[in-house]
Amino acid sequence: MPRKAQDSKNSPRELPAVYQVLDHPILAALQDRIGHAYLTDEVRGRIEAHRQALTEGAKVPDLEAIAQEVADRVVQWLEPKLKPVINLTGTLVHTNLGRAPLSEAAVKAAMEAANATNLEYDLDKGKRGDRDDLVEELLCRLTGAEAATVVNNNAAAVYLVLNTLADKKRIAVGRGELVEIGDSFRIPDIVRKSGAKLMEVGTTNRTHLKDYRQAIEDGARVLLKVHTSNYRIEGFVHEVDFDELAALGHERDIPTVADLGSGALLGVAHWGLSGEPVVRDVVASGIDLITFSGDKLIGGPQTGLIVGRRDWVKKVKRNPMKRALRCDKLRLAALGATLGAFLSPETIDKTLPVYHLIARTLPEIEALAAEIMPAVERWAGNRAEVETVSGDSQVGSGSLPGATLPTVLVALTPKNSNIKALAKALRDLRLPVIGRVHGGKVLLDMRCLLDTEALLGSLQMDKGANS
Ligand SMILES: *Cc1c(COP(=O)(O)O)cnc(C)c1O
Repeated sequence: MPRKAQDSKNSPRELPAVYQVLDHPILAALQDRIGHAYLTDEVRGRIEAHRQALTEGAKVPDLEAIAQEVADRVVQWLEPKLKPVINLTGTLVHTNLGRAPLSEAAVKAAMEAANATNLEYDLDKGKRGDRDDLVEELLCRLTGAEAATVVNNNAAAVYLVLNTLADKKRIAVGRGELVEIGDSFRIPDIVRKSGAKLMEVGTTNRTHLKDYRQAIEDGARVLLKVHTSNYRIEGFVHEVDFDELAALGHERDIPTVADLGSGALLGVAHWGLSGEPVVRDVVASGIDLITFSGDKLIGGPQTGLIVGRRDWVKKVKRNPMKRALRCDKLRLAALGATLGAFLSPETIDKTLPVYHLIARTLPEIEALAAEIMPAVERWAGNRAEVETVSGDSQVGSGSLPGATLPTVLVALTPKNSNIKALAKALRDLRLPVIGRVHGGKVLLDMRCLLDTEALLGSLQMDKGANS
């Protein structure tokens, strides 16, 4: 009876039992990496999936096939989900790609802080210390501020400062500065969440000192200035500068706050970039509290830095939310090492990767492009045309909006496949290469390239090339 034989072969009864799959040598080899309970769960799930597939006409797989399937799946659980990639997007500090690449010194410092450290322990006195002490002195030296503290990121810094100074009070912000950064940080929302009441002053394009004066008459108790990080208004514009705002605050005894976004510790004009206020100048203007990110132009780990007048910083540190927003030893260690690099501004382009990329000259970038072109051409084979074209990079993450740096792009135009498949093939490399897609080409920005060897190695290892 051939028909019956066929049926029984595809009957659920032919599926292996859970213990049979677990005992298979393929899975036995995994048992010291994945616990029994997790393996058993997965085996059950796969057998159940095959039972389901049988009702849809599939065949019963053999024992080894199921064991292999389970092994392939559980091995993936162990793979790190956070993977190094090669950022060639043209945005030097790319939020989606983890912002600033850390310096060697910062990486080393973070690794050395992995075990027990004097995070909150005064080694001199043998008693409890303050984690801010690890970086405060350096931050003050670099900015001229009286005091400093550090939290999780700049969004947290702005929140904490406003919550400390303005809870249940009115806070005046220029209408042109009510910005949205990324898709989740909006000044009006942060002001509201901090417990303050937002008072919009001036107009979108022009805000004058008299607008802030009027706001104080109307009950404003904090004056806030926000760096419009990701856009710029041009034409008939006016904004109140830091000096004027600080003077007004002092005159009326009202605290002033500046959210600088990127927070440059040194001027970047000689690299062809301008428009980023230097923290030291803002401190000197007399603004009481200043916040900025640690992982934008500072080039360090994700942190939010707060510098300013001692009495105000003290108040901020006493806010119970400071504890909720503080950062850990790894980041403080990396931040300390990053800040140390600014003590020698002359060599910053050698010590901090972000400045290394900013400071690159066009001839240097051309040389890099020439060095990697043969490998890219070999990799592209007959799937893409490769050429170099000139273009622009940007710093990114809200630093220096609108400002660009000249660069060389290695441009790949797909021959047979489409542009999406080409970009995907680059992302599928052992070290994923992330370019930007524009005008039917994948553009690899050479100003961004930090590790030439890694890129060459990754291109060479791809067996899919030329096929
Ligand atoms: C980037 C930015 C923020 C948010 O900083 P994070 O460090 O990303 O939290 C806040 N304000 C301004 C003006 C910014 O540019």
